Amino acid sequence: MTGNDPKTALLTVKDLGMTFPGPRGTFRRGGGIKAVDGVSFDVRPGETLGLVGESGCGKSTTGRMLVRLLDPTAGRVDFRGKDITRTGQRELRPLRSKLQMIFQDPFASLNPRQTVQQIVSAPLRAQGTSADAIRREVRELIQLVGLAPEHLERYPHQFSGGQAQRIGIARALATRPELVVADEPVSALDVSIQAQIVGLMERLQRELGVAYVFIAHDLAVVKHISHRVAVMYLGRIVEIGDKHEVYGNPAHPYTKALLSAVPLPDPAAERVRERIVLLGDPPSPANPPSGCTFHPRCAKAQDVCRTEPPLLQITTAGGGRQAACHFPEA
Ligand code: SF4
Repeated sequence: MTGNDPKTALLTVKDLGMTFPGPRGTFRRGGGIKAVDGVSFDVRPGETLGLVGESGCGKSTTGRMLVRLLDPTAGRVDFRGKDITRTGQRELRPLRSKLQMIFQDPFASLNPRQTVQQIVSAPLRAQGTSADAIRREVRELIQLVGLAPEHLERYPHQFSGGQAQRIGIARALATRPELVVADEPVSALDVSIQAQIVGLMERLQRELGVAYVFIAHDLAVVKHISHRVAVMYLGRIVEIGDKHEVYGNPAHPYTKALLSAVPLPDPAAERVRERIVLLGDPPSPANPPSGCTFHPRCAKAQDVCRTEPPLLQITTAGGGRQAACHFPEA
């Protein structure tokens, strides 16, 4: 499923946009910086959607809008069939427990003056769970994420980065959410620890049925955990589809370039494969190129690309894959 299907989707995102004020006065004149522009996708119960792209492409801003840490300036987000975009905080409260977030820097997101017990129990206290039930739940949660009950009386600085992220995951799962938005949850960790945390999140998904929006700049990280993948460039989704199809046969030149930088496990294949080097840095969203915003870096660009923005639409690649390109590859 790559389009919006409100009947089966847990989360439906439609034309989501975030425009930050630009230089003085431009916002009022309809200007400003479009960090996210016309983003649409959905997430089914129990699945993982990988959201990838270079730094500054709008993926984290999108993630924050999904859980209402940021209010979008355009579009809507429906969670369990209810528009949460403009819902008041009081109405939002019961839904919040079902919609949680894991952050990139586990230490920055954990209160250094609180014990693990206090940190993990906070969402349960907020929803009025009894003290006895909280004690039971927290012990269970901490073991679920691979830590021990004796860790509960310690403080965040007494843990490694990987352990601190496990605490963040336990806190996010305390209210048994149906969807967790994970914003670069492993990019601050050592490579050897990254695989452990991704493996933990996969196991928890199997055991608890939780869905993830897994945000990352690294396509290799997202590959293992995702069922579907959406690639963002300069605030827009440029390709979205089934993980195997996107990785096996990318339709958008940008996806192809990103994938060509992912190391292959087979050293012989790695030696001979073609690497596509992107020209220059991503342009600033404050001054996006005309037409297809990827055209200054695209080896396939033609005249139409400089004037006509391509729509995100189903390609001939099959499987309902969508790409925003006048000349999709697949
Ligand atoms: S629309 Fe043109 S410039 Fe944009 S990705 Fe496709 S071929 Fe490249």
